[in-house]
Amino acid sequence: MVKYSTKLLGLAVLSVLTACGGEQAATTASADQPAAAATETSAANSADVAQVDTARIESAARQPEQWMTYSGGYEEQRHSGLTTINRDTLSDLGVGWTYEMRKTRGVEATPVVVDGVMYVSGSWSVVYALDATTGAELWVYDPEVSGQDAAKGCCDVVNRGLAVYQGKVFVGVFDGRLEALDAATGELLWSTVTVDQSKPYTITGAPRAFNNKVIIGNGGAELGVRGYVTAYDTDTGELAWRFYATPNPEKKPDGAASDAIFAELANDTWGDTGAWTTDGGGGTAWDSMVYDPVNNQVVIGFGNGSPWNDNVRDPEGNGDNLFLSSIVAVDADTGAYRWHFQTTPRDKWDYTATQGIVIADLPLGENGADRRVVMQAPKNGFFYILDAATGQFISGNPYELQTWATGLTEEGRPIENPDARNLAPGYIALPGPMGAHNWHPMAYSPETQLAYIPANRVPQGYGDLNPDDPSNSFWNIGYDLAAGLPSVYPKGTLEAISKEISGSLLAWDPVAGKPAWEVPHITTGNGGILSTASGLVFQNTLMGEIVAYDARTGERLWSSPLNNPTSAPVMTYKVNGEQYLATATGVGSSWGLTYGFAWSEQAAPQPGKVITFKIGGTGELPASVLPSVARTPKGEAIGDDAVALLGMKRFADNCQFCHGGLAVSSGVLPDLRWSAYAGNEAAWDTIVRDGLLTDRGMVSFADHLSKEETDAIRAYVLQQAWLAVANGDAQAPSTVAASAQ
Ligand code: CA
Repeated sequence: MVKYSTKLLGLAVLSVLTACGGEQAATTASADQPAAAATETSAANSADVAQVDTARIESAARQPEQWMTYSGGYEEQRHSGLTTINRDTLSDLGVGWTYEMRKTRGVEATPVVVDGVMYVSGSWSVVYALDATTGAELWVYDPEVSGQDAAKGCCDVVNRGLAVYQGKVFVGVFDGRLEALDAATGELLWSTVTVDQSKPYTITGAPRAFNNKVIIGNGGAELGVRGYVTAYDTDTGELAWRFYATPNPEKKPDGAASDAIFAELANDTWGDTGAWTTDGGGGTAWDSMVYDPVNNQVVIGFGNGSPWNDNVRDPEGNGDNLFLSSIVAVDADTGAYRWHFQTTPRDKWDYTATQGIVIADLPLGENGADRRVVMQAPKNGFFYILDAATGQFISGNPYELQTWATGLTEEGRPIENPDARNLAPGYIALPGPMGAHNWHPMAYSPETQLAYIPANRVPQGYGDLNPDDPSNSFWNIGYDLAAGLPSVYPKGTLEAISKEISGSLLAWDPVAGKPAWEVPHITTGNGGILSTASGLVFQNTLMGEIVAYDARTGERLWSSPLNNPTSAPVMTYKVNGEQYLATATGVGSSWGLTYGFAWSEQAAPQPGKVITFKIGGTGELPASVLPSVARTPKGEAIGDDAVALLGMKRFADNCQFCHGGLAVSSGVLPDLRWSAYAGNEAAWDTIVRDGLLTDRGMVSFADHLSKEETDAIRAYVLQQAWLAVANGDAQAPSTVAASAQ
């Protein structure tokens, strides 16, 4: 048995995040029939529906019955003025209607509701239009993302939401398309490819629409791309402007809106060599892009460097690498640079600044006057407040435990812990790459003047690449994903690791720069937040619950099961005098796939759903689907320790993002330890080398891994299975067969 510290193991395993383009579970194949594009048409006339424009969204606070954008309005506060559901009526809440989506895998979306119609996206970028009072399906649009493209994703085939504007529904498709649908029929009106599809770009974020423009970013910095945001004409799909996050590979003009500021400032913050010149440098804007109508600007949250490791990315330079991990404001009409604030100069740790950006008026002006500010709780653990008009740094305070900086300067620049920059032996980073806050949206209540953050605590060790023992990862981050990982572990290890990671619902006072209250969670990656004018905050959990808290105290007031682990946020709307709470459910994404070992029980692959609640609701929740995994190894242990060690490394490099750290799946994607395929070499090869399940996103690794390596992965997986038997966590086949009858 290899001796090691559970602490170290924690980091290594908790190691990298994210998931994949892994396969959809075979057990739900019947639910996975590809839907024909725009299968149904409703009788509605496109002139009648989804008549949302800039002025109407600007008045969102005066139309609380609607939820017209991804986060409810342009300020993206996720605060509803509705009060029918309040402390006194919570106990009368019951299930309204429910709807089952057509696909399994992760669901992160916030529905949009306009004039009685709900538009919601599910996994694989499928768009559903539903009657908001009954859940009746009006139309479904499936952009038919290929499994091959699904494999480009770092973090599951999720989609966080849609934009609705002037009778159209806009969806960013996983493979890089931006598409406009007729809101009445689901008919495809135009489709634009926004990325170089030969590169590992993906889109998971929600477009935003304003002034006849729709903007979209992209993801892919874990695999190696150059990030940017593009604005398109809402009527034609014609490109209006583009703003890049990193320099042109030759530091030449791109003919883009960002050219001027790169020539003037940003190019000089990068050296002239290194991986950034071939791999794009990263800086992807995969989530936050906020339109600020008061300043007619778009405020963009840009992501981490690519590769993560700055010594690989930009080995000769020592500059800040603008605009990685930065909040950047650009002119909404032209995309021209206005201002920027870099949260993590020369990012080294995947500290994206892509997390939700909220605009609000806070009493931070002279003599306590209101000041329009931009707020963000990015991955790096500091809560920032900037002046919305100028980008001036107002304050930054640590909202979660962090070890990488000892504080901020007066200008908001981090005072780094040298151990973090130097990757000192034994240095454990908090936050890790999962971030102190990730995509799960925070909310802000102008009434309590508190921000509500789904916070996370996930430590991480970063292992430098070892030239004597090269890794072979599909990812491109400049670190060794297997560094510090043992190939075996004693009983109790998983529990010990699980205890090191946690989450919370954190009520943060941005003016005072300190917490108001906090509710600890036993899992990390819990759902985004809804705040309401009735003094409530709502959050879903990965344990499959929706919970209401008192917005001022954190007192737990109400909860209901959802019968499905959930990390999407709750939203609310009102039709015909009835207020609804609504949430999309379904587990997946990095949190659901990589960290299955930290859950008390495995989930089961089941289709995403929309669940609603209303006062006096008498509906029934869909039954939860129980895990169908038989906990017994499907093959004999094979190979010696050296083979299993190689398998452990290649698994960590390539497989854990989908199939779980330490080969322990969350259950959403197959747990390979118990897979019949793992028990048979030929069957294993048909999938891993021949690509039998490519349609589901499990592509062939034959071009990437040698037969020796894929054999070693199989040996490691089987070893993990037999280790579970030895630890008492699983049964040997004969035992199962005897007891199953
Ligand atoms: Ca990242």
